[in-house]
Amino acid sequence: MRTVLTENREFGGKNAPLKLREVKGAKSITVRITHEGVVVTKPRWVGRKQVETFLKENNGWLEIQVAKWEEQVAETLSDQVLYLGQVYSIRRATSGPVRLAGSEFWAVGSTPQERLKNVMDWMLRRSRQTIRQTVARWAPELKVATKRVSIRDQVSRWGSCSVDGSLSFNWRLVMAPPEVLEYIVIHELAHVREHNHSKRFWSLVARFCPDYELFEKWLDDHNDRIMLTGRGK
Ligand SMILES: [Zn+2]
Repeated sequence: MRTVLTENREFGGKNAPLKLREVKGAKSITVRITHEGVVVTKPRWVGRKQVETFLKENNGWLEIQVAKWEEQVAETLSDQVLYLGQVYSIRRATSGPVRLAGSEFWAVGSTPQERLKNVMDWMLRRSRQTIRQTVARWAPELKVATKRVSIRDQVSRWGSCSVDGSLSFNWRLVMAPPEVLEYIVIHELAHVREHNHSKRFWSLVARFCPDYELFEKWLDDHNDRIMLTGRGK
């Protein structure tokens, strides 16, 4: 799969990112709305002109979907945030660093966006610590020597393992329940031993995380909400 175009497009007066991807073996043009926006995939032999015709033909549907998409972005921009799998309200503090009290975050900032940004910075620091600790705890269990562990903001993945065994994690995992974060750590550590999604890989994961299917489902269900947090205008 190769992204051949990324741009902002207007659909019925609303802007959304449009991504065009070339997929090996694809038979026709398809369109989906994801947390990334409008994602169009096409076979290699289909030209740009045909894609534009396809978009025109589906314009009515796209306008409705993009309007819904924008609403969802706005919702995640509001005064609530997921942390460790729970919803927290963000309240306006007059001073001081971000505080967590009961089911509320208190943060300074004159707009909901500013306050959310401050809470996200706070969560990012927590996340680094939590992910590194979790890796350190599970690596010996899986008999894996870890090299580099990096924690970043990724739009489309929770974690990855490179051929040389460097691991990278999406800091947004701290928005998921701790057991889900733990599962992703186990998943990536297992990749150091098995660089694929073979039966052997999954049975290795299951040995340390028998409920991994539930956690995969949780991530699927909450993917958009988590990935969209703080990304609106
Ligand atoms: Zn994997």
